[in-house]
Amino acid sequence: MRETEAVGEARRAMEICNACRYCEGYCAVFPAMELHRDFAAADLSYLANLCHGCAGCFHACQYAPPHEFGINVPATFATVRAESYAAHAWPAPFTRLFARSGTLLAAVCALGIAAILLLLAMLQSGPAIFGTHAGPGAFYAVIPYGAMVDVASIAFLYSLLALAMGTRNFWRESGANGPVIPALPRALHDALTLRNLGGGGDGCPYPTEAFSQARRLFHHAMFYGFLLCFAATSAATIDHHLLGLFAPYPWASLPVLLGGAGGLAMILGTAGLIYLKIIADPAPIARAALGGEYALLALLFLVALTGLVLLALRGTGAMGVLLAVHLGCVLALFLVLPYSKFVHAPYRAAALLRAAMQRHAEARETPR
Ligand code: SF4
Ligand code: SF4
Repeated sequence: MRETEAVGEARRAMEICNACRYCEGYCAVFPAMELHRDFAAADLSYLANLCHGCAGCFHACQYAPPHEFGINVPATFATVRAESYAAHAWPAPFTRLFARSGTLLAAVCALGIAAILLLLAMLQSGPAIFGTHAGPGAFYAVIPYGAMVDVASIAFLYSLLALAMGTRNFWRESGANGPVIPALPRALHDALTLRNLGGGGDGCPYPTEAFSQARRLFHHAMFYGFLLCFAATSAATIDHHLLGLFAPYPWASLPVLLGGAGGLAMILGTAGLIYLKIIADPAPIARAALGGEYALLALLFLVALTGLVLLALRGTGAMGVLLAVHLGCVLALFLVLPYSKFVHAPYRAAALLRAAMQRHAEARETPR
């Protein structure tokens, strides 16, 4: 992690916060901060990824603008987080993609769709694309099964590898040490329940100064919707390869039930988060990071929406084009994930794990 203007500003803020400590009960950042006297760039990257931008400390801060100290922890940490995503991305030459992630997301999505449609045109005749297909294997009358699975698998595996390597880079730099296993249950609980977004039970002051659970609920809907869609794809893979059952599946089948519920939850979650961003108080927000955040939410929304529209209209002549558009969005999402705000998920989980390890070590050292 390089020294940048945002890293310098984060250091200044943390030095003032470390003397003040008014916000130490607000979130995981302040107890972790108190273990430091100096703040190296790597420490600030770790603390920034521990912050979830609730703005609680901003609204409580007596040194926030217009005070001459101008302390704005959420906006400063959002910029440092975005820089940490770029600093740890794999492979390294792709780090520049972060700077233009909003544009990139849209461009890759469009290219993905165009590529799929082109593939269609080359592999199939017009009537196959625009015809009505019914029964098991109907999708493969439009796009051959092998082409569909090969392209999606390569994109998915690349995405997994790039995410894993980026997270490994972040973890190594964070300087975490000590046993991982005892801290794992606490870190998993904090990550999966979004405990910090719940505040002390009233939620967090987002999108405005009033406390609300809205962000936590929409975030849950998006996250668990995504997992349900992944479970639907896994169920379809088992049906295809182990049971010899071919898509499209009946309404009462596991892939459709899981995918339908997951798609609806993703639409609710992403639309809700976009709405909250639009109405949020702009003061504690880093505007430079907003484009990429909107673009990722929009792409997740599109993946879910095109999936549900395809499900509803799969028995019509629109199925071929809808299938191509949905696959284009899915493909674009896989390729873009490691270079988008999505890395927030594994980086934040890693930061929570390091924080849990620190608490565990402290508890062991404290005399009873
Ligand atoms: S954000 Fe402000 S009030 Fe909170 S600890 Fe920092 S300086 Fe103190
Ligand atoms: S914005 Fe919220 S999560 Fe981030 S440091 Fe402030 S209180 Fe903690």
